[in-house]
Amino acid sequence: MPPTLTILAIGDELTCGERVDTNSAWIAAKAAARGARIAEHRTAADDRPLIADAIRELAARSDVLVVTGGLGPTLDDLTRHALGDVLGEPLVEDAATMDALRVWYAGRGRAMPDANRIQAMRPPSARCLDNPNGTAPGLHAKVGRTEVFCLPGPPREMMPMFERFVLPALRDDSGEVVRVRTVPTFGLGESTVADLLGDLMDRTRNPMVGTTASGCIVTCRIRYAGPPDGADAALADTVERVKTALGPAVLVDHDEHDDGLVLVRTVGDLLRERRQTVATVESCTGGLVGEMITRLPGSSDIFAGGLLTYSNELKSRLAGVDESLIARHGAVSREVAAAMARGGLDRCQSHHALAITGVAGPGGGSESKPVGTVWIARASRDGTLDTRQFLFRGGRDSVRLWSATTALGMLRLHLVGAAMDLLGQVEAAS
Ligand code: ATP
Repeated sequence: MPPTLTILAIGDELTCGERVDTNSAWIAAKAAARGARIAEHRTAADDRPLIADAIRELAARSDVLVVTGGLGPTLDDLTRHALGDVLGEPLVEDAATMDALRVWYAGRGRAMPDANRIQAMRPPSARCLDNPNGTAPGLHAKVGRTEVFCLPGPPREMMPMFERFVLPALRDDSGEVVRVRTVPTFGLGESTVADLLGDLMDRTRNPMVGTTASGCIVTCRIRYAGPPDGADAALADTVERVKTALGPAVLVDHDEHDDGLVLVRTVGDLLRERRQTVATVESCTGGLVGEMITRLPGSSDIFAGGLLTYSNELKSRLAGVDESLIARHGAVSREVAAAMARGGLDRCQSHHALAITGVAGPGGGSESKPVGTVWIARASRDGTLDTRQFLFRGGRDSVRLWSATTALGMLRLHLVGAAMDLLGQVEAAS
């Protein structure tokens, strides 16, 4: 079985919400990539009995426990004392660490403050772990059969020590492997994805399928644990089943970590393969689609540029939208979105144009066009036009993000020749 890991982050600044616990997320991602099973993250205040209880409880349910923080020289640094309490051992001075501390200070032309002597103390059965980037050494001890590693809180000190001391302890002696593939999707809600996956999400299944929604992307995570022989075939089979179940919502059919760019990168690749370009005509998104596309290195190959037509006047002057259309249907309408897209195609001389006009809120909504009402149009040089109305939920930021992402989703569907309704869609017209 792969080892089970628990993580304990120490510090009042974390429990009070002054600082976000990034150490645990980083450690978890590194350990998961090694195949470890992450059972629990916990955060404890600078309180000796509380830290001792947390170490006892987490050690009882894991093979490896990583504790970060609370190893400094001040009175609120209590991790080593709490570890001593758990082991039932009074602290002793570690001669080699004391020498190293003196050398560290001498190298900086300073005498070692008395307060720092505490950093050379350890429970007798624990060993000190070298910290090349700071004064606080780490500690390693066995609590029962669990390996406990206490590392300093500052990330730049903790990270190299984790890699040097903890990663080797995450070995799996069973001969089993853990392999993970991810399948990112766009356009379906997470519960719809779960419905379509059905039994594939059974928690006893191997490979096991789980979903995570991040930004506008729902990613299926397929995890295999077992003998190495069957791994590739089992993963490939489950990936195929997931793709079949989710159809055109699947963005890419290769393993990809979701860094927030997966949809725009997919669109970029499709345009590049076809040697085509896209232009944007944006109103309520204020250039967000263009911003997303230009995050891609080399985007000049695929992005012609964009028109930022926030006012009605510029919708007419820049994108050539007939003023009477705006007067008759309003700026947030199918007719105006379609005219903006056609105008973009014409003015920017691109192969495709994406246009967005909507009510991002919080003001500006009406009964017939409530906040979150957005019309998106995709026009292409082949004469096709796809215009859809959406009702997006959430605040202004959310409406804008969903609008921009959905415009890219509509272009992707056209480029791959697929049809589907997208999340939030209330009406479509060609
Ligand atoms: P030091 O010798 O710096 O006192 P320490 O081991 O005692 O090291 P802490 O005092 O608990 O560590 O934390 C030092 C700093 O490290 C904090 O102010 C914070 O900036 C950062 N830090 C601590 N824990 C975390 C964490 N879990 N995630 C992100 N940053 C952290």
